[in-house]
Amino acid sequence: MLANLVQLGNLLRSSPDLPGVVRSIATGAARTFGFNEVTVYLSAPGDDHFRAHAVVGHDEARDQTILDTPVPASAFAALMLERYQIGCAFFVDQRKHRYTPEERALFPLSEPSLGAPDQRPPGGWPAGDKLLVPLRDRANRIIGVLDLADPADGAQPTLDLAKELEVFAAFAAAAVESARQYEELERTTDLLEQQLKVRHELLDVSATLLSTLDHTAVFAQIADVLKMLVDYETIDIALVDECANELVTIFAQDKWSKEMMLFRQPLDHGVGGWVVRHDEPQLVNDMTHDPRGVLVPGTDLEPQASILVPLRFMGAVIGLLAVDRLAGRTFDTRELEIVQLFANLAAIAIRNARSYKEMEVQASTDGLTGLFNHRRFQEALAHEVARAERYGVGFCLLMMDLDRFKSVNDSVGHQRGDEVLRDVAEVLRRCSRESDFAARYGGEEFTMILPHADVDEARRVAERIRGQVADLSAVEPGLTVTISVGIAAFPDHADDTDGILGAADAALLSAKAHGRNCVYTSGDDGPAAALAG
Ligand code: GH3
Ligand code: MG
Ligand code: MG
Repeated sequence: MLANLVQLGNLLRSSPDLPGVVRSIATGAARTFGFNEVTVYLSAPGDDHFRAHAVVGHDEARDQTILDTPVPASAFAALMLERYQIGCAFFVDQRKHRYTPEERALFPLSEPSLGAPDQRPPGGWPAGDKLLVPLRDRANRIIGVLDLADPADGAQPTLDLAKELEVFAAFAAAAVESARQYEELERTTDLLEQQLKVRHELLDVSATLLSTLDHTAVFAQIADVLKMLVDYETIDIALVDECANELVTIFAQDKWSKEMMLFRQPLDHGVGGWVVRHDEPQLVNDMTHDPRGVLVPGTDLEPQASILVPLRFMGAVIGLLAVDRLAGRTFDTRELEIVQLFANLAAIAIRNARSYKEMEVQASTDGLTGLFNHRRFQEALAHEVARAERYGVGFCLLMMDLDRFKSVNDSVGHQRGDEVLRDVAEVLRRCSRESDFAARYGGEEFTMILPHADVDEARRVAERIRGQVADLSAVEPGLTVTISVGIAAFPDHADDTDGILGAADAALLSAKAHGRNCVYTSGDDGPAAALAG
């Protein structure tokens, strides 16, 4: 018997998973102690029922019923009474215990292999009776019950048998506990691995976020990562258009992406609108039956589960990220959390892209006139020289300076002088083509790059500017505004940035020297106004 137990102990230790352990307990108990029917019941924390995990029997239908029938803990308590106790076990003898119909439903009888009652050995084990052996954990709590019946020898249980079963039950309980711990460990490991993966991917997307201002690139990466972590069928990101009070899709991928990109949804419609208005994420597993749901035009009405998360920045909702599963697949709350993490990054990407554009505009424009500033002009000129060199095309540069502007300030005041500068900027805008580049060079000096223009074209533009600036004088008595313009052509007058600037400046000085309110071209002897016609 001892050898049997040691063998059994080894067997239990060798299978780490719970189903394997429970099967070994059932077959081990049947073989070692000679029972034809053995059921291993286990209880789980928080469950007030015992459930059969393994059955050894000789009636398949009954075995299946046992596996399918949870037994309330109270039903076992009613059977494991002191008066039935033999050592650690409880012998429930039908002659002493009348089973209620409920108990019979919980513990179905099989055809006894012992034969009819009158054929049993005298003082033998009555058919259908059972020996219950509790499985206890280290804190002596009952975590399971071994239900033994129909002994092969038909003999009544003895105290010796009960003692051996006690050792066996201790082994069995320890094996169940360690198998459960192992399962828990595996679950925790899986969860940690998953969390680690999420963190890793978050870091990856954050790195992209820091290295690019291209929000579409960040969205594409978020879409890829989410696909891996939260397998979805469609994804879209929408922005709140505050003027129109609508959600405008700015990114969509996979199924229906074309239809989504065309979709503008009023904020008082749809689950998306609800999420933005309430600033609250939503997990909707049955979108077709959600009263808030709206069908995106062009898409099919099909079972859809969605996670919708508001995109927030500095406390304001700026948009929405949504992922959907189709064909009846649903989401869980863990997946909602993951989507939220990545939505935060999407919001930063949007904000970054916007504020960068705003900053870029601020950094390159002149506050008073709205024209490009001196710094931006230097960049543009260098760029234009490089382009002209590479493609062998020319361009012209205009340098302009308002005439006697000191006296304009003196006569109408500095404030009005500023307005005049704004009016002159407006003239420059009016007189330039889309590809031209007008800037405030400084003070009351302006400049313009005319890509692809030859000297004649440049003169025509310059002359138009000169004329329209002179016309500004007409709006106010006592105001005289005129402008002098110098023109240089690349590469005819100079073939580098300093050279072309110097040439245009020299032409401007000539214009000043020749009476102002006129246009001079680099190397000209006379005012260009005459040439322009
Ligand atoms: P010139 O015909 O020789 O160019 O005479 P000018 O008086 O225009 O002389 P200059 O170009 O040297 O003087 C620039 C003047 O423009 C000085 C200043 O009073 C005025 N000015 C420069 N920047 C501003 C500005 O931002 N606002 C105003 N109102 N005046 C400015
Ligand atoms: Mg000046
Ligand atoms: Mg001046």
